[in-house]
Order: sequence, then structure tokens, then C-alpha cells
Amino acid sequence: MAVDTVLGPVDVQALGVTLSHEHVRVKGEPESVQFPHLFDDELARSTVIERLEVVAAAGVRTICDPTVLGRGRDVRFVRSVAEATGLNILVATGIYTLDVLPRFFAGRPDAVMVDAMVRDVEVGIQGTDIKAAFLKVATEAGGLTPDVERALRATARAHLATGVPIMTHSSPTNRIGLLQQDVLASEGVDLSRVIIGHCGDTQDVDYLRSVADRGSFLGMDRFTLESILANEPRLDTVVRMAEAGYADRMMLSQDASCDIDVITPIRPMTYVLDEVLPELERRGVSQQERDLMMIHNVKRWLDPSVAAVNPGDTTHLSDSPRAV
Ligand SMILES: [Zn+2]
Repeated sequence: MAVDTVLGPVDVQALGVTLSHEHVRVKGEPESVQFPHLFDDELARSTVIERLEVVAAAGVRTICDPTVLGRGRDVRFVRSVAEATGLNILVATGIYTLDVLPRFFAGRPDAVMVDAMVRDVEVGIQGTDIKAAFLKVATEAGGLTPDVERALRATARAHLATGVPIMTHSSPTNRIGLLQQDVLASEGVDLSRVIIGHCGDTQDVDYLRSVADRGSFLGMDRFTLESILANEPRLDTVVRMAEAGYADRMMLSQDASCDIDVITPIRPMTYVLDEVLPELERRGVSQQERDLMMIHNVKRWLDPSVAAVNPGDTTHLSDSPRAV
């Protein structure tokens, strides 16, 4: 099966080493529309290309970028940096809100949200022919506000209409991943087509097992976001979950941005390759398990017909320029 990247369709088997949750660029939408002089797009472009070249040199072939409405999605910008770096970049559609819907959608039937997302998948985003490869939706620790539930249900319906998978932003506080699964399942979503994002923010292995046992993937996707949880406990949890047999359910990433408009240090997008994978190897997580987390699981999320480990796929982490 082919999946849509910003440069067109690519065979899912050719995606190679994949970072499942990174942002090319995040910028505030009202600020950048109303005060464009505050944003230097050319500088951002050269900065992003420089940083993505480091990611590509570390052996990454593909990035899933869940930047959507509310986070400054700009698919022309993403396409230009993909052209410059040769990376496969998959972009998303979705209605990102942690509390209330944007007014336009709040006052209209849910079908308007569904149709907007379906159009992004089937026709193209922002007047381009660049198609969304997956859906993004968010629920924070506060849980389901009425509008967050509407966004979740609309996302489920867009998924059922298009077949592209779902990635969530969740909080392990209050076991929000399970709540998201309840809502999505009630709409008829096969939970194996869902990544519950930010699962790595907790060390509660019982909770993680509960989420994974319902079929979803776990986004262990915020390495280096140490203000929420330090890298060591994040890594410990991945080891414990792998030992418990869940390597076929986890994806490792950093949720970093090459360029972001908040005043914050830029976090590295190669920490997983440079630090996490070698440490996992030292701690007994096998090559096959590491390959699942970096290469194969994302393919199964995108294309359910892909077997857990495809014997025909010879891509291997050790093929990366920097062997890990
Ligand atoms: Zn993110």
C-alpha cells in the first residue's frame, strides 16, 4: 500500500526508520496571520533544513508530523523542506483543541469538521495536492469537555470515511488514553489503528498495558521533554514494557520541533537514535524489538495488512549510516 507524503505517495514498506511524532515547525496561527512581520519564514526554512539534515544523517528516513489546526500547519513549507532534505514527511489533519472548538466549528454541525478533515485526506490541504496521511486529536488531563468529545467523535468519523489512522495527544494523568479509546471504540474505530500519544509521560506500566491490550500503539514519544518526565524513567519504562512483550506496540520519538515560536530551547530530534537505542541494546532489548519500535510498528498503524515483521522487508536499524 502507498501512503501519502508531502512529496506524493510512497510504498509503506519503503518508509524505513521513522520518527512517529515530530514537528517540522510550530507557530501560532493568529499571531502569524495578524503580525506576519514577527515571523521570518526564510530564516525558519534554513534553520529547519539544517536540523532535518542532521536527522537524515542519523539514519531517519521518515517523519510523521502531527502539526494541525491551531499549531500553524503550513504544508507548502513542509513540502519545501522535504524537497531539500529528501526525507519522507507525512502530515496530518485534525481539530486540535484542549478545551473549546474554534468558533467556526462550534456553531456548526459535526459533519462540517468531518468533511473538512476528509477533504484534507482525499483532495489536499490548503489548496495543494498534499494529502493528510493521518488524523490528530487531543485530550488533556481535564478529560472530555463537550467540545473535545465532539472533536474526538468527528475524528473517528473522518477515520471511518477515509481509512487513514489516528494519532492522539493524551495525558496519562486520569488515564485519558483509555477514555479516548472508549469514545473512539464507541464510534466503531478499530483501536489498532490508533496511536495513543504521550504514553511515555508515565511510569505506570499497568495503565500502559491496559491501553496496549486494547490494541492501540503507545507513543513513547517525548524523549528530551524532561520538564514532564526525565529521560531515565522514560527509558526504564520502555525496557519494562519490552520485557513484558510490548515491543510490537511502542513507537519512540521526541515530539520536538525544528522551529517553534515559543521561547524554549530547541530539543534534539536525534536523541532516540543517539542515546535511547544504544542504551536499549545494552539493557537487553533485542535488535528485532528495536526494529519494531523504529521501523515496523508505524507501518502496521498506517496499513493494517502489514504483518508485525515482514520477512520481505530487509530494512534494519543497523543499515542506518550511524549503526545502532
Ligand atoms: Zn506534538
